[in-house]
Amino acid sequence: MCGIFGVFNNNNASKLTYLGLHALQHRGQEAVGIAVSNRYEINVKKTEGLVMQALKEQDLNNLKGDIAIGHVRYSTSGKANPQNIQPFLSHFYKGSFAIAHNGNIVNVNELKEELEKEGAIFHTTSDTEVFVHLIAKAKDTEEFEINLHQNDREFLPLLFSAMKKVKGAYSLLILRESQLIAVRDPYGFRPLVLGKNKQGTLFLASESCALDMVEAEYLRDIKPGEVLVIDGEGLRSYFPLGFVDKAHKCIFEYVYFARPDSIIFQDYVYEIRKEMGRQLAKEKPIDADVVVPVLDSGFLAAKGYSEKSGIPLEFGLIRNHYIGRSFIQPLQEIRDLSVKLKLNPVRQVVEGKRIILIDDSLVRGTTAKKIVGMLKRAGAKEIHFLISSPPVISSCVYGIDTPTKEELIASTKSIEEIRNYIGVDTLYYLSLDGMVKSALNKKNKGFCVACFTGDYPVL
Ligand code: SF4
Repeated sequence: MCGIFGVFNNNNASKLTYLGLHALQHRGQEAVGIAVSNRYEINVKKTEGLVMQALKEQDLNNLKGDIAIGHVRYSTSGKANPQNIQPFLSHFYKGSFAIAHNGNIVNVNELKEELEKEGAIFHTTSDTEVFVHLIAKAKDTEEFEINLHQNDREFLPLLFSAMKKVKGAYSLLILRESQLIAVRDPYGFRPLVLGKNKQGTLFLASESCALDMVEAEYLRDIKPGEVLVIDGEGLRSYFPLGFVDKAHKCIFEYVYFARPDSIIFQDYVYEIRKEMGRQLAKEKPIDADVVVPVLDSGFLAAKGYSEKSGIPLEFGLIRNHYIGRSFIQPLQEIRDLSVKLKLNPVRQVVEGKRIILIDDSLVRGTTAKKIVGMLKRAGAKEIHFLISSPPVISSCVYGIDTPTKEELIASTKSIEEIRNYIGVDTLYYLSLDGMVKSALNKKNKGFCVACFTGDYPVL
């Protein structure tokens, strides 16, 4: 869970990166960093906090240059400490480079051990630093059967060599003095898109909503296994590990993580999320009075369910958008305070009604139990709880922050036990086939579904 953004050829590179990262804030709220090149040297500013609060105008003014990369962090690998904030800037015998990473490397421990035995000293606990060491230590004598442009002959063989060793999920942006490089792992776990504005500035982003922010047009996805180099001589694509025709794009991005106004994996998140709701209506028709979404996560699936079933959609729960951190210890006399700070039922909508309650996923089940309790106290007659994805039974190792297996309610309890625990009349999860079918189309094949099956494509 991180967001990355890059800009090539714009003197406002740092400010555009700031805006792009703000649009990707949902992908990481812990820390933010921007690295900018003025074609001679790279400067970086990194800090904890949200983009708009943590970075000041003076910080951006100090970052002069026309090529930039940025990162918003949510720690899925490595602890939440300032050393782990990206981009990482490194200097070695072939110049400088800064790197920003979204994803998780699964063979990080063995690579680290190998590198440390060879004398590498790690300054962070982030898996991304493994890339830095692998690039710096790679031998430029290694042969790749790829015809490289002369601008790429120095650095790319080192990067290709690192890619050959690393297993797992990585969408990367690498900033060199005069180049911006985008990399996506051969499985294509995490998204990465390319865009362009009217002035010819090129952008790279985790999701297309960040391109909209800077008034750039979505051009295409970076393909699984692709290395895209952008410099003064244009754009060049390489596939150092060969074409991979069976990508494993993270389906959870469509279910929950990506913004609904984004295009990722060549398709509209909005439409797919709604289709998951329509599919739910086909699989589990229920005689009820009203469809109620758990906001905001369940809204599009609820809309799809309502459209397909003809049962009206109503906002039976209203969300308070102004939740920050609460410093008030939960009061014993106020039940479900943690959920009440965020959601409140509308009695007129739910009282005496048979409700179809819809959310996109059910992970621990504790919040759902509290929401159901609130709806019952507001007078709901029946509650049928439908989830627009299958039971999450396994943790993600590719960069989404799911809890440990033991904390996942569906890994330890049967569906009937979960239904009893949450206290609903019906509990139904969308089938695996139904979820995948909702996201599949001619362009879009090959999804990772490991957190729903426990079957990991690469370990
Ligand atoms: S395990 Fe789940 S969350 Fe992780 S990449 Fe696969 S589908 Fe996405």
